[in-house]
Amino acid sequence: MRTALNALTDELRRLKTSGIKSVNVSEAGLVALRSMIRSRGRLPVSPNVVVDRAPPVITQPMPVAKPKVMGVPKLPSPPTFILPEGDKLARWSALASIVRADPVALAQVPAGKKIVFGVGKLDAKIMVVGDAPGLEEEAEGEPFVGPAGQLLTKMIGAMGLKRPDLYIASLMTWRPDAAAPAGSGQISNRSPTEEEMRYCLPFLRAQIDIVQPTLIVALGSGAAQGLLGSGAFKALGDVRGEWREFAGKPLMVTYHPSYILRNQSNRSKRMIWEDLLKVMERAALPISEKQRAFFL
Ligand code: URA
Repeated sequence: MRTALNALTDELRRLKTSGIKSVNVSEAGLVALRSMIRSRGRLPVSPNVVVDRAPPVITQPMPVAKPKVMGVPKLPSPPTFILPEGDKLARWSALASIVRADPVALAQVPAGKKIVFGVGKLDAKIMVVGDAPGLEEEAEGEPFVGPAGQLLTKMIGAMGLKRPDLYIASLMTWRPDAAAPAGSGQISNRSPTEEEMRYCLPFLRAQIDIVQPTLIVALGSGAAQGLLGSGAFKALGDVRGEWREFAGKPLMVTYHPSYILRNQSNRSKRMIWEDLLKVMERAALPISEKQRAFFL
């Protein structure tokens, strides 16, 4: 028994080192694992492993984030977890439960606010990714529901789609809170740090793995840096409008809708729209002449 557990531990460690963040376990495998674990009294893998079907249980508490220094939390290593086997909905629901129970994220979410997890069609061809939720998103627990999100919904409409046709996610599962002067009562957002995005990335990768979109659209330089790495480009203009790759999927980087909220010119709108026309072509969506000429 001990030899089998050691072999399993070694294999999981090897997979983790080679970048694998989640592993499917069959029902029979889970039963065998549970009985081995029960007889041994502790889990064979560490840390942050989730083993169960429904509801998923975090079997060992992840270290809770240390107190914030200047508004930026010190975080533990990115989480690792195992999703149950099953259809997309079962795996997505298990992942949602894991994300919403993540003590590291919960430590960053103010009382009465929510962790933000992706929404949309689990068979979506197009997955949209932003960097971090804002105030409206943490109030709803849903990405892109504030002013930028409302503009995103209009952009989706211009593509001939509806919001629920896509899968919409934020890289961060919590709103990065900028330190405000004590007693000022101010609340302000900041860009997520590389460490924060690295921490949350396994949750996004797992959503991509479940949804298997035809392509991904990264909105803004924060999301682009989170997916491509901070050294991948100097200015967003260097990468936007070109096909890249993330998690084996074609990745289109474009401007964040909040950029358009700040720059309402037709030129800015046309730049994003040209990127979205490329997305529509790659996703084999119909494009009318009228659509091709938007913002010209
Ligand atoms: N910007 C993002 O990147 N995500 C949201 O959820 C909202 C705005």
